[in-house]
Amino acid sequence: MSIRIEKDEIDSQNECVGFEVLKPRVVKLTTRTEVDVRRTLPHKQLRMIGAWCFVDHYGPTTQVTGMTIGAHPHVGLQTVTWLFDGRIMHNDSLGTHQEINPAQLNLMTAGRGIAHSEQSLEAESTMHGVQLWIALPDETRKTTPLFEHFSQLPTSSKDGITTKVFVGQYQDLKSPAKIFSDLVGAEFKGKAGKVNLDLNSDFEYGVLNVGPELEINGHKVGFGELAYTPVGQNTFEVNSQGDIHFLLLGGKPFGEKILMWWNFIGRTHEEIVAARELWNFHNQSIPDFADEIKQRIPAPELPNLRLTAR
Ligand code: MN
Repeated sequence: MSIRIEKDEIDSQNECVGFEVLKPRVVKLTTRTEVDVRRTLPHKQLRMIGAWCFVDHYGPTTQVTGMTIGAHPHVGLQTVTWLFDGRIMHNDSLGTHQEINPAQLNLMTAGRGIAHSEQSLEAESTMHGVQLWIALPDETRKTTPLFEHFSQLPTSSKDGITTKVFVGQYQDLKSPAKIFSDLVGAEFKGKAGKVNLDLNSDFEYGVLNVGPELEINGHKVGFGELAYTPVGQNTFEVNSQGDIHFLLLGGKPFGEKILMWWNFIGRTHEEIVAARELWNFHNQSIPDFADEIKQRIPAPELPNLRLTAR
């Protein structure tokens, strides 16, 4: 997905010092689509959860035009595409052509640079999913680009709740996907009732509610909202009158300042300028690839200020 990072996000500070329920902001994709996206990271009050630095949630929606995002680059991060409903075709500069279905993982490690496009299939069916970014630590952020698809992931069922781990580890479920820091991304889905999440007290966590209203540790968490806790918490007590459906995102506090601009993550202004020029001046360092969209999205103008890592 190609999302413009707004200035208020660049300037945001991490202000969450305890449990908080964060409301999403509705944003529009910069490309031709009518799909509303709810963004909870980065947030005015929270920049990251572990290495998780970007959380976009879209749908469920039926859009005649579907969702089409032309070729655009990424640098210094991993993208996670996770669907609850719908189908997407992914194409990238490594030559990958991969269809993704619900409960499957597409994990793209951009490292020093990759480009991709995404297009929903069966435009008149329901689309519901998330696009998540994971920042790469300094020592691995220029790694060789990699694309991984997993149609089967570690899953357990207990008390009517199914848990599926797409990246990292939760309890004894460990995803085979390649990651570069201690984190977890897992989906929980099941019938109304109660579930206690076993948390690692070295991690900070967010629960992104993609279903009916939940109550977590006594706080109401509506559809699309993100419940956050800093390190030191051992459990989330989740209660729901309706079906339970949420994502658990957690990780060790990242411990590095990052510079996030457009689809790039760097550390200095100069790196972002270089990444932008590499893409816009099209010098073939990121190979072209074929898709049905036939659109190449240029990076926007840089703001008239020096970007700094935060
Ligand atoms: Mn993208």
